[in-house]
Amino acid sequence: MSDLKITLLAGGVGGAKAAEGLAKSPYASSTKIIGNIADDDEFHGLWVSPDIDTLIYSLGDQIDRQQGWGRQNETHQVLTELKALGQDTWMTLGDLDLATHIYRTNLKHQGVSASEITERLAKRHGVSIPILLPTNDVVQTRVKTPQGWLSFQEFFVREHCQSDVLDIEYQGIAKAKPTLQALEQIASSDLIIIAPSNPIVSIGAILAVPDIQQAVEKSGAYIIAISPLIGGKTVKGPADKMLENAGKSVDSKGIYDCYSTFLQAIVIDDLDQQDAAWLQAQGLDVLVTPTLMKTPEEKTALLTKVVEFALSHQKQRAA
Ligand code: GDP
Ligand code: CA
Repeated sequence: MSDLKITLLAGGVGGAKAAEGLAKSPYASSTKIIGNIADDDEFHGLWVSPDIDTLIYSLGDQIDRQQGWGRQNETHQVLTELKALGQDTWMTLGDLDLATHIYRTNLKHQGVSASEITERLAKRHGVSIPILLPTNDVVQTRVKTPQGWLSFQEFFVREHCQSDVLDIEYQGIAKAKPTLQALEQIASSDLIIIAPSNPIVSIGAILAVPDIQQAVEKSGAYIIAISPLIGGKTVKGPADKMLENAGKSVDSKGIYDCYSTFLQAIVIDDLDQQDAAWLQAQGLDVLVTPTLMKTPEEKTALLTKVVEFALSHQKQRAA
């Protein structure tokens, strides 16, 4: 297994569950993760990178397990004081978490790249699986609603995803340069796993970085996506509204549609079994299995099963 190279494309909460599953599987040392930076934003003068921090805190076992984001044993003294000073505090940033953002911002001002900062934060939290970034440049998802364009965090956190989604853009994407690490990792992968993450604003924002989707399409890797929908519904978050806005159906077929130019296989929940025949007719290998991951055991079991399924079907295709 030492030669095997696995890449996980991951967003925040769904991405971190898959990352943790791989980290505790026999394939941990074969895996590298490419994370999403398009949810990044500035709060109180500090640069916050929510999906990357969710990956680091989860893999470092520092995540608040109830929420799925933020730090365990967190306090909010700084935020309480900022509120008293009349500042907007809808973005919940705890005291421990703020240290991460202060550190990141400080290094950013010193000219340290986002990739290098991620590496240092991962090291501090004892994360051994490398977390690569698709770009070191700033890319920010914006969501058009009936009230106008919102930053991603305004839509997601402040408005609780309640507004209708009329359009989505990734600001800064045209000028963003892909990182060499991400391109090389994709090109040399045997297996690319797409986490059960939001296909538009998590995975879509990674793939939209110039040359990244093309690298995936050309990689020669076996590519398998885990659907983030269970029984045709999101476990959490706005993927359903965003799929609708993109003109895709809100089911496994819509997920396939997002990845149709490069996908060999898809993992769907038992509750979505009715889509399996259609997906197979598109030429996909289909794994139907429970995909809700709550416990560490469920994460490890699912990701181990996904890798085993992929390796055996990759062999069959090569034969
Ligand atoms: P975010 O960046 O925190 O919004 O997280 P992601 O983009 O990584 O993942 C969001 C998606 O994960 C949502 O569409 C959820 O439906 C999906 N999701 C969360 N937990 C699970 C799970 O246990 N199983 C599956 N199949 N999907 C999940
Ligand atoms: Ca996110």
